[in-house]
Amino acid sequence: MTQATDVHEIASPYLGDELQRWRAEVQSFVHRVLVPVSDEVEETGHIPNGALNSLKSMGLYGTNTPREYGGLGHSMLGSCLAIEALGAAHIAFYYTCGVNVHIGSKAIELAGTQAQRSQYLPKIASGEYVAALAMTEPGAGSDAASIQTQARKEGDGFVLDGQKVFITNAEIADCFTVIARTNDRDRRGGLSAFLVPKGAPGLHISPAMDMLAGAGSFHNEVVFKNCRLGADAMIGEEGQGFELAMLSLDHGRTHWAAYSVGLAQALLDLAVKHTNSRVQFGRALSENQAVRWELADIATQVNAARLVAYDAAWRFDRDFEGRRAASAMAKLMNGDLVFAIADRVMQLFGGYAYAKRSPVERMWREARVVQILDGTSQMMRQIIGREAVVGTYSNRQPA
Ligand SMILES: Cc1cc2nc3c(=O)[nH]c(=O)nc-3n(C[C@H](O)[C@H](O)[C@H](O)COP(=O)(O)OP(=O)(O)OC[C@H]3O[C@@H](n4cnc5c(N)ncnc54)[C@H](O)[C@@H]3O)c2cc1C
Repeated sequence: MTQATDVHEIASPYLGDELQRWRAEVQSFVHRVLVPVSDEVEETGHIPNGALNSLKSMGLYGTNTPREYGGLGHSMLGSCLAIEALGAAHIAFYYTCGVNVHIGSKAIELAGTQAQRSQYLPKIASGEYVAALAMTEPGAGSDAASIQTQARKEGDGFVLDGQKVFITNAEIADCFTVIARTNDRDRRGGLSAFLVPKGAPGLHISPAMDMLAGAGSFHNEVVFKNCRLGADAMIGEEGQGFELAMLSLDHGRTHWAAYSVGLAQALLDLAVKHTNSRVQFGRALSENQAVRWELADIATQVNAARLVAYDAAWRFDRDFEGRRAASAMAKLMNGDLVFAIADRVMQLFGGYAYAKRSPVERMWREARVVQILDGTSQMMRQIIGREAVVGTYSNRQPA
């Protein structure tokens, strides 16, 4: 039977030689170094230092951070290819190196002062520092514009008071992009972004929340009590916080779409291997037409998911319109698909995937989060509907 890896090559004609080489390099690294320790990460809730160090030396903390700030300077597509490859390994790797830059420090990259950029971005891109985006609150999840954390002006600086939840990497973060309210009169325009260093007085981080998946990664509550910041803590201009968070999430969603492709491909590869070797009724499972068609459906979905993710990335790289809608479409479609695929693959494995500590069981749990974080699937529909109505989703390149 055709190997699933052939399906993986279907999108290759659209990539140049350089991107194909880069993708192959990261894939080989992930399979050599990260996949073999994925069970250990799940078992111990800890990423081994050797794996963390090799993530750093591969440059995976800064795939699309500009070279002038110490990153690899890859295009969005190049960055997505790396994250797609990471999707084959434990999800903690992506939370640690990817979420860190795709949402954690993106606002600094997009709108930070020269001093903020040069102080933080090179350290984040090298993996010396970890960054986190602190936006969600107990009362402000999908309705992010209802953020209540206050940033009141005092003297030359600001004082933060409020509470954030589900903040990825908070426990290990060296710096936070915090979205807080500087003005009560304007819901969105009243929000500003602040760069808060670890150890700022009045910054408290609760122990990591126990999640359905992602052992080895950290998601914490973060509380600000009279947390004093200098005037130079603001990222961008006053009132720009909501848009900076949304721009960061556009990057985050595109990368989650790519991550989903990698996870879905890994599930397909496992399913092909298993159904080729598992014999029932005197023949391999894959020799049954019903099973082969199931694999064919999954392979078709993986290929479609890949092209949707690449389309969103291409729009960033070519400065096409419709990036927000395209990233929302990619996360919506691929988040739904990867969980549906995980479920189908679990069925193809039977009891062997339902057993705790089977890779498919872990991946099934990992897949579920894509429909929730960086905005739920319902919010993706909201964005797509809104963007399509006002006509920003198009194939036009700006003149
Ligand atoms: C593992 C993980 C990591 C995360 N990391 C971060 C992070 O690093 N930084 C950060 O700031 N946040 C983070 N989050 C938070 C995440 O972005 C929110 O959980 C998400 O936006 C949803 O908000 P909520 O959980 O409050 O759900 P709610 O907003 O309460 O929504 C509950 C349900 O209601 C639906 N719903 C809400 N409003 C509507 C509507 N108008 N129409 C239809 N349906 C609606 C939602 O789609 C959802 O299904 C993380 C979450 C998780 C699980």
